Amino acid sequence: MELELKKISKLSEKLKEYIKRIEEETGRPALIKSVQDVGLNGMNAVFKLDPKYIHVEIIEEKYYDSKGEIDQEGIECVIAHEVTHGLLAYKKKYYQLDIVHKCNKLENDSIDLINSIVEDCVVYKIMHENNFQLLPKRYINRVKDKIEDLLKGKDCYENYNKYPLIFKDSTFQKTLKPLSCKAFRVPLFCSSPPPLETLIR
Ligand SMILES: [Zn+2]
Repeated sequence: MELELKKISKLSEKLKEYIKRIEEETGRPALIKSVQDVGLNGMNAVFKLDPKYIHVEIIEEKYYDSKGEIDQEGIECVIAHEVTHGLLAYKKKYYQLDIVHKCNKLENDSIDLINSIVEDCVVYKIMHENNFQLLPKRYINRVKDKIEDLLKGKDCYENYNKYPLIFKDSTFQKTLKPLSCKAFRVPLFCSSPPPLETLIR
């Protein structure tokens, strides 16, 4: 594993063990890298397809507290999450997105986000089976705060308003149709075109 983070030089034994197992199963080393931006609004970390690595990028600063101390538990949780996406891609051969028609940035980001929402169900299941905490504690606290804000009538969806294609009318239905013409989920290790039924619907 190559750990290119600024404030973290060591991970817990449990996480190291988990990553090692995934590296063995996929035959790929993990690369955990600190970046300034992962390219998706509201996201702090991302798994990227890579010819060699299980490549994970994290905005490390998002896991600093007000004193600049790192939230080790929070960042480990997100590393376990993103590395699990690597397991799905390279071991379990999950189909990966391929944008087949010209998309603008909003459409592109929206497709990525929908794909994550779907694939995350499996990621959380695997993390749960491996006794990992699914979400950082501070995230749960944030949800509690948001619930209070909602009860007071505040708009809590600023982040998601940036994705009107997905969250318009509080339903995925209207979005998935137009976006489904733009993206296929394709097997990483298959050179022939995917069957039509692999279209996202
Ligand atoms: Zn995810």
